[in-house]
Amino acid sequence: MPRRAFRIFAELEGMYRNMVEQLVLYAVNNGVTKFTRLKAERYREVRSLYPQLPSHYSYTACQDAAERAHSFLRMKKMGRARKAYPEVRNVSIWLDDRLWRAEGLTSISLATHRGRVRVSVELNKHYLRYVNRGWRLTSGARVKLDHRDRRLILYLTFRKEVSEYRPKGYITVDVNEDAEAALIDGLVYLFETDLSRITLGYYYRRKRVQERYDKVYGPGSRPARRIFKRLSNKERTLKKEIRWKLATLIVREAARRQAAIVLERLGKEPAKNMMERIKDPQLRYRIFQAAFKGMQRAVEEKAREYGVPVIYVDPRNTSKICPIHGAEIVYGRNRHGICSKGGETWHRDVVACYNLLLRALDGDGGPAPSRQRALAPVDGGPVPLGPTATHEPTGVPRALWARWRSLGATSAHKLMRVSV
Ligand SMILES: [Zn+2]
Repeated sequence: MPRRAFRIFAELEGMYRNMVEQLVLYAVNNGVTKFTRLKAERYREVRSLYPQLPSHYSYTACQDAAERAHSFLRMKKMGRARKAYPEVRNVSIWLDDRLWRAEGLTSISLATHRGRVRVSVELNKHYLRYVNRGWRLTSGARVKLDHRDRRLILYLTFRKEVSEYRPKGYITVDVNEDAEAALIDGLVYLFETDLSRITLGYYYRRKRVQERYDKVYGPGSRPARRIFKRLSNKERTLKKEIRWKLATLIVREAARRQAAIVLERLGKEPAKNMMERIKDPQLRYRIFQAAFKGMQRAVEEKAREYGVPVIYVDPRNTSKICPIHGAEIVYGRNRHGICSKGGETWHRDVVACYNLLLRALDGDGGPAPSRQRALAPVDGGPVPLGPTATHEPTGVPRALWARWRSLGATSAHKLMRVSV
């Protein structure tokens, strides 16, 4: 943007930030997490702060602040807030239908304290993809200032009217630290993600860098910080790529079969017993975010894009109970266990995937396949997939699935069977 026009937005950002800061302070002090209450109690106050600003900015600042206060108070309750008050560090200005409008596909106009300003826009691939899938823009948007390149970044929200999607089946997804298991057409695929290994690897690399640089430059030196930043960026990019690719693969398979996706309803804290060995709580939290929350969020977002419904089921004991006999499965040291009633062997992730399916089937009486059909004998045994093949998932290394566009690209029998 031209310097002069950009300055207007820099001023606007300053005023908006100030409003949000004051509102957040008030909200946290008074335990306000609802926009309506914050607006009722503070709108007049912030409105009088900057009378030259279009009034709707006070309105959206209340929404922004209420959301910040809400998530801060929740973090605080969980004991993860480091400070007494949330810092308003990154600001993106919330807009509503009065504050911005699109003028064709090439420019938008924004209301500012200096009147309406017209800005030309450059659309990206992501935008076009949504528009091509029949999504429509909503009035809610956010704008962020990129001071270095003197441009505005506009975040848009899309909406789509969907016809009722009656799932003809389910794809269940069980996430663990280093792989994601998915039950598709009666086969359990184990897609390796290596997420915890990547998180741990970068953690130790950063630690080594810190030790080496602290000795030479003293703690918190600039060169060390620079390397930290580069490592973090690399780590983030890699994880993001893994998440999106796998989510796309799974959601596409669901859309093709008109199936719903079944996910575990996650608790708030990393509860998987496998992670107990990691003592550092911050590290554990990061692995949890990367592997569970991050994977789930990627699947959720892709599913929204494709209009695939997501069903959540209770994750308790999903890998402990035999899906056929309902008896406890006794695990040894690896991921294989033996059913205490039937004596058959199970792989942990296969058990989890089938139990998620059973819970999803119990949960609704829709036209989707029934529990009976899911457990009908296939080749002799009363086992979902027949007596021999069932208990072992089909392991798919990351190097392999990362190149797939669909499951049909490689038939399952060509894959090696690996146990993790
Ligand atoms: Zn059994």
